[in-house]
Amino acid sequence: MAFRRRELFKRGARRKRAPRPLCSQNFPVVSFPTVPPPSIKSRSLDELSQHLAAQGQPAYRAKQVTDWLYRKRADSFAAMSDLPAPLRAQLAADFTFVRPEVVRVLGSKDTTRKFLFRLADGNLIESVLIPASPALYGETSDRRTACVSTQVGCAYGCKFCASGLDGFTRNLEPDEIIDQLLAIEGESGERIDNIVFMGMGEPLANLANLLRAIRIINAPWGLEIGARHITISTSGLAPQIRKLATEPTQFRLAISLHGATDEVRSQIMPINRKYNLATLLEACDTYVAQKKRLMFEYILIAGVNDSGEQAHLLARHALRLSAKVNLIPYNTVAGLEWSRPSRNRQETFLRILREHGAVATLRREKGHDIAAACGQLRLQTKRAETQSA
Ligand code: SAH
Ligand code: SF4
Repeated sequence: MAFRRRELFKRGARRKRAPRPLCSQNFPVVSFPTVPPPSIKSRSLDELSQHLAAQGQPAYRAKQVTDWLYRKRADSFAAMSDLPAPLRAQLAADFTFVRPEVVRVLGSKDTTRKFLFRLADGNLIESVLIPASPALYGETSDRRTACVSTQVGCAYGCKFCASGLDGFTRNLEPDEIIDQLLAIEGESGERIDNIVFMGMGEPLANLANLLRAIRIINAPWGLEIGARHITISTSGLAPQIRKLATEPTQFRLAISLHGATDEVRSQIMPINRKYNLATLLEACDTYVAQKKRLMFEYILIAGVNDSGEQAHLLARHALRLSAKVNLIPYNTVAGLEWSRPSRNRQETFLRILREHGAVATLRREKGHDIAAACGQLRLQTKRAETQSA
């Protein structure tokens, strides 16, 4: 897309006659906005191969470039020392190579670490690294899980969530999604082996960039993280869930349900007015019919969605789709009135689900408050910066 936009711009510029210089000393120089070249980290190996072949480069060059990006973690074209200097200069002219600035890191080794990044255009995003995740997403493991953002802000405005509080700014580009992982690994010195798209933003509202990023993350020449170790979470964009049903990559899908009736769900998730429960569950039927498994995320909010009746109905939905349920006690967000139910009430909710035969877990560990973390740190920093400006 970026390639095409750039070519269009060039073609348009060629067709127009260059304006005659009037009197350059008396008139300000008018500069036209230019479209920056595409990012090297948004390109697949095939695309790079085609690009370099068109320039007469030998076939092995593209793989050399991806090795520099994803194996040796080069931080510039200049660092790609076994490429001829003219090729490095040509790459620098054809592609951008940016890295996010690490603004803040909270937490330490063995605890959940939160990273605040500043993108090239100044926008802030958050990612989280969880060092070990026993039973976090249904497996016993000692994986290092990264919780990654897909948008700056979020347009869906769920009433309980920090990410949507400041509205939506823009989609992340594929390289900005991948860069979160590279930067976390660079900062922490640890290898990520599990990814959840549960940071800021609605992943399915940025589907093309998300899928492009996932292909690079998953590729043997890329970050080589298995699709089964990648979880996409959605607030329930029914048409995109149907689209994902035909996607060949076997990543995992989590549906943020948070309410088992339209009444409860619409109260906290405005998306439910667009795609109500019946529509969402039908899209999930289509997904499951393609032999794909999904799971439900259900945050427990005191007095809102934690009744016995909601548990009964949630169990019914889960059984219909053979979906596992992850119960997550709500994490309080500064400025919002919601709170988590008592331990006792959380356990009762879990028991009802299990009594109905649903497979369910309740997140009990401290330090796994990843979702609440995403969005809050950015908001604090953004507000502090606005006040001091
Ligand atoms: N937009 C997507 C993914 C990002 S949110 C989605 O909604 O699924 C990732 C998960 O964090 C969602 O299940 C979301 O409901 C949950 N979440 C948001 N705020 C939370 C909070 N304060 N406490 C617990 N979970 C929260
Ligand atoms: Fe957006 Fe997900 Fe937060 Fe809802 S829960 S506002 S969809 S990030």
